[in-house]
Amino acid sequence: MTDPAWLEEGLDHIWLPYAQMKTAPRPVPVKSTHGTRIILHDGRELIDGIGSWWTAVHGYNHPYLLEAMGHQLALMPHVMLGGLAHEQAYTLATRLAGLAPGDLSKVFFCESGSVAVEVALKIAVQYWRNTTGQVRPKFLAFRGGYHGDTFATMSVCDPDDSMHSLFGPALPSQYIADLPTDEARTETLERLLSTHSDIAAVIVEPLLQGAAGMRMHDIVTLKRIREACDRHGLPLIFDEIFTGFGRLGGMFAATVSGVTPDIMTLGKALTGGVSPLAATIASRSIYEAFHSDDSTKALMHGPTYTGHALGCAVANASLDLFEREPRLDQVAAIDAHLSQAFAPLRALPQVADVRIRGSVGAVEMRGAFDVQGMRRRFIQEGVFIRPIGKTVYLAPAYTIAPADLSTLTKAIVDMVTEQKSR
Ligand SMILES: *Cc1c(COP(=O)(O)O)cnc(C)c1O
Repeated sequence: MTDPAWLEEGLDHIWLPYAQMKTAPRPVPVKSTHGTRIILHDGRELIDGIGSWWTAVHGYNHPYLLEAMGHQLALMPHVMLGGLAHEQAYTLATRLAGLAPGDLSKVFFCESGSVAVEVALKIAVQYWRNTTGQVRPKFLAFRGGYHGDTFATMSVCDPDDSMHSLFGPALPSQYIADLPTDEARTETLERLLSTHSDIAAVIVEPLLQGAAGMRMHDIVTLKRIREACDRHGLPLIFDEIFTGFGRLGGMFAATVSGVTPDIMTLGKALTGGVSPLAATIASRSIYEAFHSDDSTKALMHGPTYTGHALGCAVANASLDLFEREPRLDQVAAIDAHLSQAFAPLRALPQVADVRIRGSVGAVEMRGAFDVQGMRRRFIQEGVFIRPIGKTVYLAPAYTIAPADLSTLTKAIVDMVTEQKSR
């Protein structure tokens, strides 16, 4: 079947994400989605292994989410939060504050994860200004981290091993440390924090660095970061845009680890993959620094679509599903399934590492392989899996049927096993 006319025409005008438009393989036209299936223009179905950039945790077209959004659409797609209020944003703020650990309880809404991180960074800088008058323009971030694509968020990504390295000279310079996975690295972190008094906050992807290739670290490492921040009175930001909403088996990495940040960012699965929405949640004590009779101490940020009513309605419905359906049990089942299915790969010489936590299973190869070729072959085999760097991984909807998950793991096991002979 030939590609649809809209694709032919549109390819002349669309500028795609992270793509060299000259050489990028032609994207596969999609007609519709349901459950964990992507239905292509030519009628073929793909089993989705990554849930649309890790967002569609309840599967696609969940009737309950569609109904909630439809209901809100008929009532009011959106009304601005400046001077006006609507039920969905206020209810969602209350619910997120209830779910978030510790005294994380002040919720700021925006439209994308990158902006949620921008807001977190702004909060940290202004926190110091408001409380002590200090100018602290810098951040400490970790190697392997990914926090977004805007300028400030690019500056806290891994400066070398990331797609943003070419912007290096245009970015504010930050302190980048190795995750404190051992004594020596813990000392290095400690030294950085004690020698530099211009650091406003420390930012980390807790337990799982997603975009770097599903790199995982343990709870002890996270505790060391928390302790170092406590020793130096520094706010700790957890970027939970990927890890939030059950991904690692608990509602947040903070709940899984028992380590609580001062600021948390959420996005991706917040609306179950239906609508763009993100949030920054600050602790009550951070918020206190802004709560004042002095108007210059207010947080100066306000996206046009902040608290978007359609997005908030579907996010509320997504939280209903977490309450009513056994999502976290499903994640535990996926964890067990992935652990078993990928176990044999550990012995293969071409495999450097197998990492599994919650609904994420990753196989890191020792050497480089033909990523584009592998992506194409996966599609031919009826699965949608997108390796990043040297890592082939799954992060499926929590609702995926065991048979579909088996098809996905088998596709990866076969593909990885076969790499040997190349
Ligand atoms: C995806 C992601 C972001 C950026 O979110 P966008 O919505 O793409 O701007 C930031 N941090 C982490 C950890 C992410 O996974």
